[in-house]
Amino acid sequence: MEVEEKMKILIGLYEKDKEIDKIKNLEIEVPKKIAKLDEELEDLSKEFNEAKETSDKIDVKRRELERRVEEQRLNLDNFRKRKREAHSNKEFQALKREIEDTEKKIIQLEDELIEVYIEKEDQEKITNKTRIIFEEKEKKVREKEELLNRELNKSKENLILKADERTRIAARLQDERLLKSYNRLKNSRGSGVSIIENEICTECHSTIPLQLFVEVKKGNKIYTCQSCGRILIYKWIE
Ligand SMILES: [Zn+2]
Repeated sequence: MEVEEKMKILIGLYEKDKEIDKIKNLEIEVPKKIAKLDEELEDLSKEFNEAKETSDKIDVKRRELERRVEEQRLNLDNFRKRKREAHSNKEFQALKREIEDTEKKIIQLEDELIEVYIEKEDQEKITNKTRIIFEEKEKKVREKEELLNRELNKSKENLILKADERTRIAARLQDERLLKSYNRLKNSRGSGVSIIENEICTECHSTIPLQLFVEVKKGNKIYTCQSCGRILIYKWIE
């Protein structure tokens, strides 16, 4: 087989490997991206839950105040009833004071209650705002995740196909030594070949000595880069 033919096959392998690497990279990157999206969502979910908790605490406070108002009202009714049935002036006066005190307590509690109602209203605004932000983000995140997963699954299917194509390309090379050398370089350096452009190895960016450049261009023999060891390929072969 002509050297030029071998180089064309190597380029084919190189291109196929790039496609395979891209898919393998996706298999690493997609779960990372999804984890990051979940994390962003988690922060917003926390904010929303905290707002809800604050809102719930205000409700507890409100119910407690309402209970106390109710309790004082019952006391008031009771005092008024007893005042109507008072047997002595002393008892009458004592109950009158109790009624006045209770009325004051009720006014004070109702003032507190108004404060709590306002607090609750303000908090509801915050809770709703964080809920809307969270829900909108959740929708976006789920959509993005679905898209990423779909892309990944499609790529995984493609990987089987591409691995198969690679096997067929490799078999066409019919040069076990060259294939081994390519694979070794691919595994250790990320790529097995380097295309020369402007007398420069595009992989390691070192200048190719003129003599070597001329030899590679002739295409009679396979040469490797003196710096990175990759199999050199002249651009006309693309
Ligand atoms: Zn190089």
